[in-house]
Amino acid sequence: MISTGDVIQLLPDHVANQIAAGEVVQRPASIVKELIENAVDAGATEIDLIVKDAGRTLVQVIDNGSGMSVTDLRLAFERHATSKIRTTEDIFQIQTKGFRGEALASIAAVAQIDAVTKTDSEEVGNRLIIEGGQVRDQLPAAHPRGTSLSVKNLFYNVPARRNFLKSNQVELRHIQEEFLRVALAHEKISFRFFHNDAEVYILKSGNLKQRIVQIFGRKIEAQLVPISEETEIVKISGFVGKPESAKKQRGEQYFFVNNRFIKSPYLHKAITEAFENLLPNQYVPSYFLYLEIDPSKIDINIHPTKTEIKFEDEYAIFAVLRSAVKHSLGQFNIMPSLDFDQNPDWAFIPSAPKNGSIKVPEIRVDKDYNPFETKPTPSQIRPVHEFYQSFTEFETENNHPEFLLNQEEIAFQEQAVMQWMNKYLVTQHQGELLIIDQNRAHQLVIFEKLKQNGTGNALSQRLLFPVEILSNETEIQLLKNIEMDLVKFGFDVEFHGEIISVNALPTEVDTEKVPEIFTDFLHELETHDQVQFDVEISKIIAKNTAIRKGEALMPEQAKHLAQQLLHLPEPNFSPYGKPIFVQLQEVEISKKLK
Ligand code: ADP
Ligand code: MG
Repeated sequence: MISTGDVIQLLPDHVANQIAAGEVVQRPASIVKELIENAVDAGATEIDLIVKDAGRTLVQVIDNGSGMSVTDLRLAFERHATSKIRTTEDIFQIQTKGFRGEALASIAAVAQIDAVTKTDSEEVGNRLIIEGGQVRDQLPAAHPRGTSLSVKNLFYNVPARRNFLKSNQVELRHIQEEFLRVALAHEKISFRFFHNDAEVYILKSGNLKQRIVQIFGRKIEAQLVPISEETEIVKISGFVGKPESAKKQRGEQYFFVNNRFIKSPYLHKAITEAFENLLPNQYVPSYFLYLEIDPSKIDINIHPTKTEIKFEDEYAIFAVLRSAVKHSLGQFNIMPSLDFDQNPDWAFIPSAPKNGSIKVPEIRVDKDYNPFETKPTPSQIRPVHEFYQSFTEFETENNHPEFLLNQEEIAFQEQAVMQWMNKYLVTQHQGELLIIDQNRAHQLVIFEKLKQNGTGNALSQRLLFPVEILSNETEIQLLKNIEMDLVKFGFDVEFHGEIISVNALPTEVDTEKVPEIFTDFLHELETHDQVQFDVEISKIIAKNTAIRKGEALMPEQAKHLAQQLLHLPEPNFSPYGKPIFVQLQEVEISKKLK
């Protein structure tokens, strides 16, 4: 966008009102996002980000974009002052990052601003100094074409907000994330990022792959599988990481729609479905995916920071995305590795009868078998202990109904389970003594159940008296980001000012546990990004509702819990990765008895 004169206009009230208002500035990272996006919108090819003290004392963005005229510089800090839209209709054809015209006004209200800018048509540039929303000074200043905007001492006039900021490390991580989101969407723009005078990223203009490698390092290059698909409703490009590069923690998951980073648990699901069978439980594939969609078919106005959007053709986009990813994984020969040693089809070929002819064992080949479509077979589930494996294999394989209740399993049902010290369940299996941590066992049982609820089958209980939790704007905003996830699990949450009102709960959850559960949600949301928050919700509910250490159980309860645990495909570790039981062999005991 080239600015040749005054281009900013005040939006008419009715247009302004149609744009959902929102709290733009939550933390230093919000400023980073708004300023860098403005620089991109101004057509910059080089953008520098300079941050001091994790953004508390300074966030500065220097660009070589269009610059602003002297009147535009002044108007830019008025609410609803934008050069990017004129009418309501324009919102539906938006090509720029910004359009609400409220970012700079919001930032100027809570920080000190020093802006210097120059357009091509001016000899010298202009400088504007604002404090707490009031213009302090405006004067001519020498500057090359472009804009340098410094935001100093964020929240200097709002101590409550300042105190709410997290540690420098956390704030810096948020800043880095915002920076990367823009950098990954604009590989043709050169970026530099400095923190306390140290270089954090120097990103040269290049292609997308080069940009990803510059950011995440050489090792990622060999892991990138290209994705490319074009249909009438959506064009998809970018990369997904090979399955072996997937991590247990959420890491590199990036969706962009029309070059704008968005969060979409729904589209995330399309990717994880495409990876089904290729990844162990809880591993998350990395991806950098770029969707191009007709702007009139999406609504980016539903969220103040515009990180969520509504799609008109949601289902179709989901399907195209999933099949595009599946297709590429297939094409690049990324198949699940079949472990023949554990394949039950082979393991249970009957041994030759003592008398009579030897029949050549038949090897069944399922021609319709598609590794990308079936549920995991037992060979891909990774039972750690053999005693357990011996019956899970029968159990999870529906093709062998005759094995569903085998001898060992029946034996187990008859097995005594004893509670010890109100902490452990003691039982035996195949000559081994099993000592189970009751709390961790129950966590895993609940977690596995909730994971299924997370797919939309949650049972919900409506409360006669809603649970009310006193909160604040920032926290409420964080919760709003995961509202859809909460609904999937059976929560019904409403926000009234600073109060969170919980009207319905998953049936697994007791009313009195609600405050701790929400505290944990918020803690998690503040310290991590929200990709795949459904897993986090399951973990937190499991942690807060599981039978505690020190809780006495009825014999029936103890037995039921042990059974539920040992029926799980992977009973060894709690949702937080802690071991659930100890096994003791007879030899260990007899040694002690010598
Ligand atoms: P929006 O981006 O939604 O229009 P902002 O408050 O972020 O609202 O910016 C207001 C206006 O200031 C923009 O529309 C643009 O005209 C101008 N502006 C802001 N930053 C820059 C910049 N770095 N270079 C040129 N113009 C800018
Ligand atoms: Mg803007």
